[in-house]
Amino acid sequence: MFDVLIIGAGVSGLTAAYELKTKYNNDNFVLIEAQDRVGGKLHTCMFDLEAQKQLSFQEYTQHMKEWKKNQFEVTEEHSKYFMADLGGQWLGVAQKEVLELADKLKLKTYKQYEVGTSIMDTSAQQKPLIYSGLIPPLNPIALVDLQLVMWKIDAMAKEVPLDQPWNCKNAKEWDSKTIQSWLDQKCWTSAAKETLISALQVVMACNASEISLLSFLFYVHSCAGLEQLINGVGGAQDSKIVGGASMIPLRLVEEIGEDKVKLKSPVWSVDQSNKDYVIVTCKDGTEYKAKRVILAISPNLCGRMHFTPPMPGKRDRLCQKSPMGNVIKLSVIFKNRWWRTDKFSGFFVSTHGLVRACYDSCEAGIGFNGFIFTERAYEFMEWSQEKREDTIIEQFSRLFGKSKQFIKEQFVAILFKAWVEEEYERGAYEGFFTTGTLTLEGETLRKPIGRIYFAGTETALHHTGYISGAIDAGYRVAREVVESL
Ligand SMILES: Cc1cc2nc3c(=O)[nH]c(=O)nc-3n(C[C@H](O)[C@H](O)[C@H](O)COP(=O)(O)OP(=O)(O)OC[C@H]3O[C@@H](n4cnc5c(N)ncnc54)[C@H](O)[C@@H]3O)c2cc1C
Repeated sequence: MFDVLIIGAGVSGLTAAYELKTKYNNDNFVLIEAQDRVGGKLHTCMFDLEAQKQLSFQEYTQHMKEWKKNQFEVTEEHSKYFMADLGGQWLGVAQKEVLELADKLKLKTYKQYEVGTSIMDTSAQQKPLIYSGLIPPLNPIALVDLQLVMWKIDAMAKEVPLDQPWNCKNAKEWDSKTIQSWLDQKCWTSAAKETLISALQVVMACNASEISLLSFLFYVHSCAGLEQLINGVGGAQDSKIVGGASMIPLRLVEEIGEDKVKLKSPVWSVDQSNKDYVIVTCKDGTEYKAKRVILAISPNLCGRMHFTPPMPGKRDRLCQKSPMGNVIKLSVIFKNRWWRTDKFSGFFVSTHGLVRACYDSCEAGIGFNGFIFTERAYEFMEWSQEKREDTIIEQFSRLFGKSKQFIKEQFVAILFKAWVEEEYERGAYEGFFTTGTLTLEGETLRKPIGRIYFAGTETALHHTGYISGAIDAGYRVAREVVESL
């Protein structure tokens, strides 16, 4: 029998295991993972530029082992590939959990490229606006409106206690409305409102009309303020891992031991009717016994498992009311860095285009990382590959002021991942809370039930929704379990 069984080998589950082994000297654990790879929402894909094909995660893992031996030296061999982070990617300056872990794991990082002008594309302007620095090119009245509303959000967020957001003075009122309905009342100018709604979509991967104001304020407080969330260098999109974000889970597996992780083993049921242990059964019938179980998956996926005895109604309703965001992350690969020659940073935001935000991604090959959200993500999935490529080429041509022919000649490929289509993720970046959830059922978020403990980035106090949050939750749950054994 194991002391601890961890369900989910994303960053949170892997960090819990790493902490059990390195801090608490407990080696009697196992990780059960549904997919054929570790990392969950961190997924680096390797694209072979000569063969024009995406390589498997196992090929990527092998390549990275070799590259690590060579101290990540960029050689001619390495430039044959494009490394696409189709899941989580950036490390933020305030995210100390992930920065410290990356350091411990001896991973190298590099800054997001931000040299040159950026582009803002709003529905009010016929031509995209080109600007330098952090301040968006809005008219002065809209800028004042935007700044005042942002300050108000930050001030309100500070009133939300991180450990018990449902206990904040205005919890009931703030949990009764969405961030959209609040912005409808607070913004005087349509330009400031459109900018904020678009920024919130990039930050949360859902529409402002879907998320409770209280849930959003908790997120802002947990993530060190709205400016941190929005900013690139100096903010949450400051730096990246050399070789891709999947290096974090791969290095964690090296530390805890490959034999500890059972891949391709979706958990079907968790039975804690015996008073001494829990029985965890996988879809193929394999059974494991453990004294404690850690669920290191989102509440939404917890709600899809079968529990004996059944989960209390309050906990189950929390799972029902925390949907995942809806994002497609894509990499657009080009032959040359033509935008850098034209003094563009490569960063653009669009309040209405298909790709809503895009960043230069040249250290990992030549290209961009971009995001498509919510209704546009559903639309994109219904299109043919030809229509997808054509629409993206057209958007790049319009925003960067280049002919469609030129962009077409430079274009190599797009790689993308639609996270809602993944059976064992069902969306990203994280589970958020709809109106009336935190106040009614929030207290069940991380409270253990019998021998079952909860991790996953959604349960974090700091940087919830981020890699750092997944680590924060992993450390907390390891401590809770050890104290209970
Ligand atoms: C497109 C995208 C962009 C993002 N950008 C950033 C960013 O730039 N910076 C940042 O810090 N964060 C970012 N994030 C968020 C970050 O990746 C996540 O917060 C973090 O990786 C979550 O880790 P986790 O361990 O909590 O959950 P997960 O990574 O979801 O891990 C859960 C694991 O549980 C497994 N599982 C699920 N069900 C079962 C089952 N029944 N049985 C067994 N196993 C199961 C899953 O397969 C998965 O491996 C992004 C995420 C996405 C998808």
